Amino acid sequence: MALTAVEIYKFLPKTNCGDCGVATCLAFAMKLAQKQAALDECPHVTDEAKQQLEDSAAPPMATVTVGLGEHQLKIGGETVFFRHDERFHNPCGLAVTVDTSLPDEQIQQRIEKLEGARYDRVGFMLGVDLIALQDGGDGRLVEGARLAGEHSSLPLVLMSTDPAAMKDALEVCADGRPLLCGATTDNIDAMLPLAKEYNCPLVLRADSLESLVPLSETAAGADSDQLLLDTGAQEIERIQSDQTIIRRMALNKKFKPLSFPTLVACSAADPTQQMLQACSAIAKYAGVVVVDVADDEYLLPLVTARMNIYTDPQKPIQVEPGIYPVGEPDEDSPVLTTTNFSLTYYLVEGDIMSSKVPAHILAVDTNGTSVLTAWAAGDLTAEVIAEHIEKFDLADKVSHKTLVLPGGVAVLQGKLEEESGWEIKVGPKESSALAQFFREQGWAAK
Ligand code: SF4
Repeated sequence: MALTAVEIYKFLPKTNCGDCGVATCLAFAMKLAQKQAALDECPHVTDEAKQQLEDSAAPPMATVTVGLGEHQLKIGGETVFFRHDERFHNPCGLAVTVDTSLPDEQIQQRIEKLEGARYDRVGFMLGVDLIALQDGGDGRLVEGARLAGEHSSLPLVLMSTDPAAMKDALEVCADGRPLLCGATTDNIDAMLPLAKEYNCPLVLRADSLESLVPLSETAAGADSDQLLLDTGAQEIERIQSDQTIIRRMALNKKFKPLSFPTLVACSAADPTQQMLQACSAIAKYAGVVVVDVADDEYLLPLVTARMNIYTDPQKPIQVEPGIYPVGEPDEDSPVLTTTNFSLTYYLVEGDIMSSKVPAHILAVDTNGTSVLTAWAAGDLTAEVIAEHIEKFDLADKVSHKTLVLPGGVAVLQGKLEEESGWEIKVGPKESSALAQFFREQGWAAK
């Protein structure tokens, strides 16, 4: 986190000797803040002050990297408590377990299921980020790692407290920079060197927040900073409380042993309860969430919850303005207009698809706001819609000159007919009524 000139000034000698080539210490602090000077240009700054400055300038929470290549995951590095303060930067990773005690065929099926778990949601492709291989004992972890390497490109979480099993698995998959989960009080002396040797991030696992701190201090003593923290919490109240305390200690107190992203392994036997654990952890403030459930009806809500938390609240999600086909429309198909706010656009698209009437959508650029918001802000006017009709050559795409306006902005009908020369039909206020509207207009389902 960048320091201001005033914050830097506190660490300088304040003698205004000018040996740094600048007249005063404050002026030098300003150059440092603007990155126009280096601290060693002041020969009088003490080693202690240098260290304090470095500590103060360090990010409050480490950023940890898992995996390599296209599926690489960055975790942590967050700087705020609430997404509206700025935004959250690195989405929580979703890991789903694979029990390596299962027969190879079932392991392979599960891995392939997770690899293929992709969900198209308001224009974003969402899915599972990590495969969490649970050590089934008897050398099964290494077999799981081998199968994952053959059938998936997703990064791995190696879940074992046995350093020997971990080392065997690393021999197979260390190139993919898996997350090692993890080090406990009993095995940290063996796990830390493994993480270092294979250059992999490591989860520190304890059964309470208090017992996590000495583990983290031990890791810091071994010069390890690619760490995640797991307090072992399962009760939702404790998950929330531990996560909040860790973030508070990292951001407000800069307490180094807790200045790392977290991992929450949700293990409630009831899938719905497990979803509650996971959603609660995603909302506040897990870096990685591990779940056992792999069914679409659980994964889709989870990845949707995560997307909602990690989108930038100051930038509405948008589709590109333009003309989009829904179904396989031809030149006689109806044209409906809406805004380029993703949620609005995909609602309209979904309702057109349900109606089975192929149609074109003219998505108007309203900076990603909904129909009524855009109209109230003056971003959805007859002139703007007419400009889009021209800009995207709508007349060349259809044989008619009829456009359907959202019912909520029926007031634009007359002006838009004047501006565009098109016949404007007023559609329903809610897109859920489009099927009935199409029937009334004689537009047939195909
Ligand atoms: S050399 Fe150091 S002490 Fe002297 S003016 Fe520059 S910042 Fe201040």
